[in-house]
Amino acid sequence: VVSGVLDRIRGVVGPKGFIDEPEALAPYLVEWRGLYRGAAKAAVRPASTEEVAAVVRLCAEAGLPIVPQGGNTGLVGGGVPFEDGESIVLSLARMDRIRAIDPLNHTITAEAGCILADLQKAADEHDRLFPLSLGAEGSCRIGGNLSTNAGGVGVLRYGNTRDLTLGLEVVLPDGRVWDGLRALRKDNTGYDLKHLFIGAEGTLGIITAATLKLFPKPRQVETAFIALRRVEDVMAVFARARAASSDLLTAFELIPRFGLEISIKHVAGVSDPLAAPYPWYALLEVSSSQTETSLREALEAFLAETIEAGLVADGVIAASGAQSQELWRIREAIVMAQNHEGGSIKHDVAVPVSRVADFIIEASEAVARRLPGIRPVAFGHVGDGNIHFNLSQPVGMDTKAYLAHWAEMNRIVHDAVAARGGSISAEHGIGRLKRDELRHYKSPLELELMARVKQALDPGNLMNPGKILAPEGSQNGRRAAT
Ligand SMILES: Cc1cc2nc3c(=O)[nH]c(=O)nc-3n(C[C@H](O)[C@H](O)[C@H](O)COP(=O)(O)OP(=O)(O)OC[C@H]3O[C@@H](n4cnc5c(N)ncnc54)[C@H](O)[C@@H]3O)c2cc1C
Repeated sequence: VVSGVLDRIRGVVGPKGFIDEPEALAPYLVEWRGLYRGAAKAAVRPASTEEVAAVVRLCAEAGLPIVPQGGNTGLVGGGVPFEDGESIVLSLARMDRIRAIDPLNHTITAEAGCILADLQKAADEHDRLFPLSLGAEGSCRIGGNLSTNAGGVGVLRYGNTRDLTLGLEVVLPDGRVWDGLRALRKDNTGYDLKHLFIGAEGTLGIITAATLKLFPKPRQVETAFIALRRVEDVMAVFARARAASSDLLTAFELIPRFGLEISIKHVAGVSDPLAAPYPWYALLEVSSSQTETSLREALEAFLAETIEAGLVADGVIAASGAQSQELWRIREAIVMAQNHEGGSIKHDVAVPVSRVADFIIEASEAVARRLPGIRPVAFGHVGDGNIHFNLSQPVGMDTKAYLAHWAEMNRIVHDAVAARGGSISAEHGIGRLKRDELRHYKSPLELELMARVKQALDPGNLMNPGKILAPEGSQNGRRAAT
């Protein structure tokens, strides 16, 4: 039966859209970090919404599971298939057109396979800003960004992908197409269905296009790198920076000294911009579309005032675009640098902004009590309460033995998060990696409601089964383990 369906799918998408030769198929099966290596009957690459719909209809008839895939930069194993090889990967990569830009309405409509950087560029060419920005922007695709509700460095000012979305086009699990591509900022006509598909990680349908918000392009951008004596001061400094910049703060990123040290050690082009070492740093960016009042002057005044108040120990404001890039390089180098320091147990968590410092202190102490010598690297978008709480292994410890502590460390860190009303996944989603943690921390009522939504939209459980939700004991989300 399945081979008959595969032939019919090949007939829909043509030879360019159907990959089953092992070598060509391989990249579709491996997760970005290599954590998961799956198998699939084929990677199918439709070129239009109609082709996606036709493929989904065939899969629905045959009971063939579908794993939607964008740029495959996701970090929780959501976009790669399970090892059982029972599904197909449906890649949106060929659907990469910008369908329309309306500068007056400040909107852009793009197909799901459009690479994020291309979308930013298209907006830029019309003197507009599409503010979603993240390290993977040269590879990730807007359908993947929508499906993970991606965050990134601009969330503080512009919100995450959900906040940037006005309308969606979605192929439903039965192959029907929902045209919800509205370009309205106000539309109170009942349930806002697009929000079900945003952040659903491909478990409810396939996003084929989206209408997204654009913004005026910034004419002034200023970047500062400041040093702090105590992590307890970080959010007070953040609050002052917001006020001093008339709420024009675009980014506020935390960097620990250890993160800077390993970046200098392992990544070319990173240096310490300040004369003396300090335990903590923050990277700030302010931007504005107007040119009358000087953001630089506001930032200088903020720096002088916070140094005077004893909150900031030292700081530098980038004198040029190139220097600003150098400061950002410190932030971006941390993950790469950590790879050179042995095993890293990662957490992508959020707590209320007012609890960031006490979370970092308590969680760091708790993991060190359990494993002396462990090296926490707490960094990231703390302006949104989002902390990448990564734990580098003790020096000299066997990496495999260290990584065996993964679940135990998760429990310690996630308990500290939960105690503060936080989230165990601030940006990256649940996928396969965190579904057991989700089951542990979400209330039974929320889990039940999520399962009901899934059942209502995808009764055959064909859309990315086993991602986000899976019955206990089921590996691929389709049947219990035997
Ligand atoms: C270097 C690096 C930096 C990163 N920085 C950030 C960051 O700052 N913030 C952040 O949030 N994330 C970050 N990420 C994670 C990742 O880039 C994001 O999750 C991104 O949104 C994934 O997009 P993608 O196109 O690669 O999606 P994929 O990895 O292909 O897919 C992600 C999920 O969405 C589903 N999916 C994909 N396309 C569709 C579609 N059209 N319809 C339905 N479901 C679909 C997949 O099945 C999967 O479950 C980073 C990753 C890397 C490698």
